[in-house]
Amino acid sequence: MATVQVVQADITTIRVDAIVNAANTGLVGGGGVDGAIHRAAGPQLDIACRRLGGCPTGEAKVTPGFELPARIIIHTPGPIWRDGSFEEPKLLRACYVNSLKRAVENHCQTVAFPSISTGVYGYPLKPAAEIALTTIRAFDAPLDVQMVCLDDPTYAVYRDVFAELTAK
Ligand code: ADP
Repeated sequence: MATVQVVQADITTIRVDAIVNAANTGLVGGGGVDGAIHRAAGPQLDIACRRLGGCPTGEAKVTPGFELPARIIIHTPGPIWRDGSFEEPKLLRACYVNSLKRAVENHCQTVAFPSISTGVYGYPLKPAAEIALTTIRAFDAPLDVQMVCLDDPTYAVYRDVFAELTAK
């Protein structure tokens, strides 16, 4: 099984085999964590992303890490939250599962995720944290995963959900 820990940091500074990017379906680079990753990885990332020709919501595609400390970047577009009845939970789970599959295929042992969809895409934090942490913990591969939270509220919710899950 994969192990997971919750940390508070800027994901662009984490030295792991793979970091995951909360991308958009065009893979064109946007704001939030996507913008931070593009700035830190340098202009080659934009060129590599454009060659991938986009990515459907819930799927995941890989580029090199370029100037990041991470070896590769796994780009996964999360679902935009509407009201929860548009397969948002299923699609968010798919983001985590497909990203972890790409990590295994690319011989990664350490992976760092941001909180996918809970920024501009508006997914409510607590249910998103439950999906993130349960999906990672249930993934059957020898991966060490960090959930990297930037802001205080996100970090607090992920820590609470992690404590609830590990107390069971
Ligand atoms: P989405 O469009 O999937 O909602 P956002 O980038 O808007 O993605 O937000 C997702 C999460 O990433 C939010 O919790 C936001 O605070 C966080 N975030 C933004 N920048 C960084 C960063 N440099 N490192 C880690 N997390 C970040």
